[in-house]
Amino acid sequence: MSRTYALVNQKGGVGKTTTAINLGAYLASYGKRVILVDLDPQANATSSLGVDHADVSVGTYDVLIRHTEPSTALLHNRKLGLTLIPSSTALAGAQVEMVDMPEREKALQRALKPLDEEFDYVLIDCPPSLGLLTINALLAASHGVIIPVQCEYLALEGLTQLMNTLQRVRNAIFPQLLIRGLLLTMYDTRTNLSKDVVDEVRKHFPKHVFETIIPRSVRLAEAPSHGLPISFYAPKSPGALGYNAFTLELLKGDGMKVAQTLQKEGS
Ligand code: ATP
Ligand code: MG
Repeated sequence: MSRTYALVNQKGGVGKTTTAINLGAYLASYGKRVILVDLDPQANATSSLGVDHADVSVGTYDVLIRHTEPSTALLHNRKLGLTLIPSSTALAGAQVEMVDMPEREKALQRALKPLDEEFDYVLIDCPPSLGLLTINALLAASHGVIIPVQCEYLALEGLTQLMNTLQRVRNAIFPQLLIRGLLLTMYDTRTNLSKDVVDEVRKHFPKHVFETIIPRSVRLAEAPSHGLPISFYAPKSPGALGYNAFTLELLKGDGMKVAQTLQKEGS
């Protein structure tokens, strides 16, 4: 059975997509079978892997709305050892089209079910909202949500709203919904503000914050324009070390065995 995690935060630009791509790539480099589901109409995860969403013929929209067999939506990236279900522009209309669907909150859970045995990890990149697409991701996230939190002023503000939404989903439809962890991102070593935010978030959520902190690193911001994860674009950069450490922390917490070294490209 695969472990499914949703990357969730209704706040925009906090590192959901960056985490999905780079965690996915490192998990794959450690030999895990990984599928990345781009559930965001912005299609940033899709384009970050070098796929033009205008060219997508079958993607998340089709498996959600048209009940297309998910295996037909898979794009295998051999170089990265990573599989993508791409987003397409059509996904923007999905929330409206889903309104009349029976059990519309469970469409993604249902759609991904046939892939359960084929992958070790399923990572769902969510849009910056708490709409129906994100609710679908929450219900599909059998092993919990990963919440990237930007080390910035007001980081905590949106988190209260997010926690309330998670609680409402638990109460209403999915009691077993877990928080896998909060991941602090874009930490700036030069500012006291970043340090203060880390302290504050850790104080509020003492049990839920990952130890690894992702630094602010310009290489992480550059990598998507080359269609590459950081592990290929700048494997020695601070951002790469951060995401590698985060991946190892997650694998360890998941009780997964890890080979001592990263698998080399092409091996
Ligand atoms: P959205 O809510 O719009 O989907 P997001 O939460 O997915 O945004 P990202 O797209 O991952 O956020 O990141 C926002 C921007 O910040 C991107 O340009 C990304 O390249 C950049 N970025 C993300 N993490 C870092 C980092 N650690 N250091 C520097 N830049 C980063
Ligand atoms: Mg994103």
